[in-house]
Order: sequence, then C-alpha cells, then structure tokens
Amino acid sequence: MNPTAQQLTEWDKRYVWHAFTQMACYEPLIIESAEGCELIDIEGRRLLDGVSSMWCNVHGHCHPAIDAAIKDQLGKVAHVTNLGCSNSTAIRLAKRLSELTPGDLDHSFFCSDGASALEVAIKLAFQYWHQCEKPQPKKTTYIGFEDAYHGDTIGTISVGGVDQFNAVFKPLMFPVHRLLIPDRRVPDEASACTYHLQVLEETLQQHHETIAAVVIEPLVLGAAGMIVQPHGYLRGVRELTQKYNVLMIADEVAVGLGRTGKMFACDHEEVVPDILCLGKGLSGGYLPMSAAIATTEIWNAYLGEYGEAKQLCHGHTFGGNPLGSAAALATLDLFEEEQTLAQLPAKMARISEHLTRLKEHSHVGDVRQCGMIAAVEIVRDKATGEHFAWTDRHGHQVCQFALQHGVWIRPLGDVLVIMPPLSVSLPQIDQLCAVIAAGIEHVTHTKGHSR
Ligand SMILES: *Cc1c(COP(=O)(O)O)cnc(C)c1O
Repeated sequence: MNPTAQQLTEWDKRYVWHAFTQMACYEPLIIESAEGCELIDIEGRRLLDGVSSMWCNVHGHCHPAIDAAIKDQLGKVAHVTNLGCSNSTAIRLAKRLSELTPGDLDHSFFCSDGASALEVAIKLAFQYWHQCEKPQPKKTTYIGFEDAYHGDTIGTISVGGVDQFNAVFKPLMFPVHRLLIPDRRVPDEASACTYHLQVLEETLQQHHETIAAVVIEPLVLGAAGMIVQPHGYLRGVRELTQKYNVLMIADEVAVGLGRTGKMFACDHEEVVPDILCLGKGLSGGYLPMSAAIATTEIWNAYLGEYGEAKQLCHGHTFGGNPLGSAAALATLDLFEEEQTLAQLPAKMARISEHLTRLKEHSHVGDVRQCGMIAAVEIVRDKATGEHFAWTDRHGHQVCQFALQHGVWIRPLGDVLVIMPPLSVSLPQIDQLCAVIAAGIEHVTHTKGHSR
C-alpha cells in the first residue's frame, strides 16, 4: 500500500535529515513529479520551479531527450568504476567537455558533487607544485573570498568564506588568505575593478611564494547573495595569477552550463583558468555529476613512471557514472538542438524589465542580474541599506507567500533568488516576478508597519 500524504509528511519530518534545515520547525514540501519548469507536489499542486531545483536544472524537468538518454544507458549498464576502468559514455563526455571548454582544459576528473570537484581541484593544485617542472613545494595555501561558497566539505569550507555556516568548524579548517568579496558596488561602480584587483595584487605580491591557487566563483558569488563582480575583474585575476605564478581554480558549479548567457562564465572575459569545476547543471540537473577539468600543463605534471608515484591518489566511487554521463551528453546536445543560448537574451531582457520595476519598491535595497541569475535584496531602510533582523526571515516569508501563489523559490537570507531553468518561457518569467513583487509587498507592508 502506498503511504498517504499525511504519512509521508510525518515520515519526512521524522526520518529524513534535510540539508541546511532546522528540523524542529521544518514544514515539508513533497514533490511527486515534474513537467518542464513546473514541480507537482503530492497534493497535485503545480509550482513554478523558480530556482531550478537549487540552481541545477537547465532544460526543464522530465525533458524527453534526457529521459530517453538515461533510459537507453540504463538498458546497457548503470555503473562502471573509473578506477582503472572506463565506460564509453563517460569517455564521450570527457571529449565533448574538452571541445566545449576554452583553451586546453582537456582533462576531466569526474566526481559526483560540486564540493567533491572542488576538493579535487584543491588537491590537484597542491600536488602540482610538488611535481611541476620547477617544483615549489612551499606553495601550500590558497586565496579565497569572504562569503564565497564552494561546498560543505572541510576543504571547500576552508577556501570558502561563509562564516555564518562554518564558525563551529573553524578548528577543522586550514588557513587561507581571504579577500574582501569583489562586489561591483564596492567602493563604487567606477573604481570597483581597480580596487579589488589592487587588493588581490597586494596579497599576491606579499605571499605568492606560498600560494598554490586562487579559488574563485567567476562573475557571480552565488551563495554569498548573488553578488556580481565588476566587469574586467575575472580577466584581471587571470592576469595577476599568471604574473605571480599562482594557479587559478574557477568554480563554475553554479555559473557554468549557460547560466550567465554564455556556456561558461569564463567565456565572458576570455579567461582560461588552470582548473575549471562543473557540477549542478552538468547533468541538466538530473543526476549527481561533476568534473574538475584541468589544462594539459597540470595533466603533464602528473605523468611519470609508475615508481615516481606522481598520480593523484583520489577517487569517488561514482565518478564518471554512465547514467550521469548520458544525462550530461543529452544536456549538451540540447544546447545545440534547442538553440538554448540564442534564446536567452530575450529572457534576460524580460527579467531585467521586471528588476527595474522591483527596484522602485520602498523595501528593495538592490537588484542584481548576470544572465539568467537575478536577485532582489529586501531591506528595512532603502536609504541606508539597513537590513531587517535575520531572525525575522523576511526572505523566507516572501517564499512562503510565493508557495501559496504557485511559485517555489528559496532565498539567501533576505535576498530573493530568481534562477529558473534556462528553458523557462517569457510568461513564466512574468509569473515568477509578479509573485515575488506581490510577496515583497505583502511581507513588508503587513509586517513592516507594525515595527
Ligand atoms: C552548489 C555549489 C557548490 C557545491 O556543489 P554540491 O554539489 O552542492 O556539493 C560549489 N560551488 C558553487 C559555486 C556552488 O554553487
């Protein structure tokens, strides 16, 4: 007998430990199925997926082409280890990625999650300096950014910077140089790029001999609140890392796969990092699939006689999984078949129109956009930018309102995220933004007046 909706709700609260969730006050939203950009819950309620199921869905849910590719693969084999063994689907994917990514980023190390791809990148960079042509074993530390997010494993929280999440784990983390978040608004739009590059250069000047790599989310710092970097900053980071002989790790887990309007965020500034990490959208958001893709320079440093022990001693059981690879290949095919990127400018422009209107609201402090990533920041005081108390959970309340009105979104504190699948339609963008506008109005007016 199938469990009832009520049973599922009770079991969910009792047996499932949800990510980033206070289980004592968790209210389940249980999805039964999905169709395109809509999720359908166990009560049959349809919800527009306004954040691409945590920023990973690309072409919509249950896309027939991706479903068929997975089913086809399932008829052959579901899993093959990549420890000393391979499968034709992962091989084809690695070749495709080498063609798609810029420069000679030709060597894919497959993992399952974004965080594990970043862990690989961190280790690849570290060991590289031990065995490259002119070894520099003193290069053992990293440059990261305040509020940057690279995952939740110990290595990735070390290079990341979200203190609110990680304060308790400080004793487990390794030290890194953490720079001010390269926010386009700081100190002001005109000087932001120069200013943040100068901060980076000062750190590199002083410490380059001990720095293995700079770890950066290109163009947009996602979990930090969709903070957009100044134009030219990424290019500048690449130039400075080259000047000071430091590797550059680009974390494109959130911004890769068309999210910013181009296939990769690095493409906007013609940057070729030393290691590029993909996750989330790589399998179209269908299956756990990620990759750390390295240049031939890095790859070569790992080649040698067996006895030299130069190989990377790292692996994940499901790295290069054929089902995930099949979903990824189908996802990449769809970019061509459906001309996904060519259709984005109209959608980006529509989001931009809505943001312009939202910006006028008396409790909207800032709106930000980079391609198909947008954010609306709710503030108590528009003039000073003062926030509401985080415990008031205004962002969460707007999302609750949205849920009552057919839209599922998830905030970052008081920052509302607009990040639908790339396949979203213009009317769906209108629906999403209208509900957010109404939600802000509802929450700040009914609540705001009484405080
Ligand atoms: C989501 C995310 C990660 C972590 O990916 P997981 O699959 O959740 O481990 C890493 N970096 C960025 C930029 C992300 O947005």
